[in-house]
Amino acid sequence: MFIHTSLCTRFAENMERFTQIILNFLFPTYCIGCRQRGTLLCYPCMKEIPGVSAPPDTDIHAIFAYQNKVIKKALWELKYKKRTIIAKQCADLLYDRMLEELSDMRTFHDFTNPLLVPIPLSAKRLRERGFNQSELIAREIHRRDCGRSFTLSPDLLMKTKDTQSQMSIKDKAKRAENIKGCFAVVDQPLTKGKNIILIDDITTTGATLKEARRVLLEAGARKVIAFTVAH
Ligand SMILES: [Zn+2]
Repeated sequence: MFIHTSLCTRFAENMERFTQIILNFLFPTYCIGCRQRGTLLCYPCMKEIPGVSAPPDTDIHAIFAYQNKVIKKALWELKYKKRTIIAKQCADLLYDRMLEELSDMRTFHDFTNPLLVPIPLSAKRLRERGFNQSELIAREIHRRDCGRSFTLSPDLLMKTKDTQSQMSIKDKAKRAENIKGCFAVVDQPLTKGKNIILIDDITTTGATLKEARRVLLEAGARKVIAFTVAH
């Protein structure tokens, strides 16, 4: 059974690689940053993207400054075109950063065996888009980790209300108001006493992450921190 499953996985991976080669041949991809053919965002261009100077909160960790045009376009390609290569590259960087942070958190804050929870979309938004970009990133991080540092819990949180896009609201207080009361914890017993890592693609004021953290703490979570690609 195990051999059968592993063969199936290898076959699926090979098929995915093969399809990618064919697609690249038919529809060549060019780097968003330098226009070089071959990938959507080459690693040299990715290294040029400036880092975040001051995230909205000490428990929210972000990698790139969202004002940068290259990362803005890359995250747009992921969110609206499902360019999974971007999720994979973001996961590489986030995972390295998470391991550094987790090592300190374990030592100083007893932050052990955390659950990895992507920020959910509302059912309506999920139907329209067909996928959740934050879940794609979380799954890629989990794939790198193989369950060594955390457990993936993609359905722990639910977005019960369809809200206006946070990106379309400029005012900080209005953003907090917009997102208030729209998350629910699906499995309260699983949440109790747990350390949780939230994953999102972009944070601006941190309102979404803070609201998600609030409901998780209310459901008995021990500590909730967050990692995002951009701020
Ligand atoms: Zn490039």
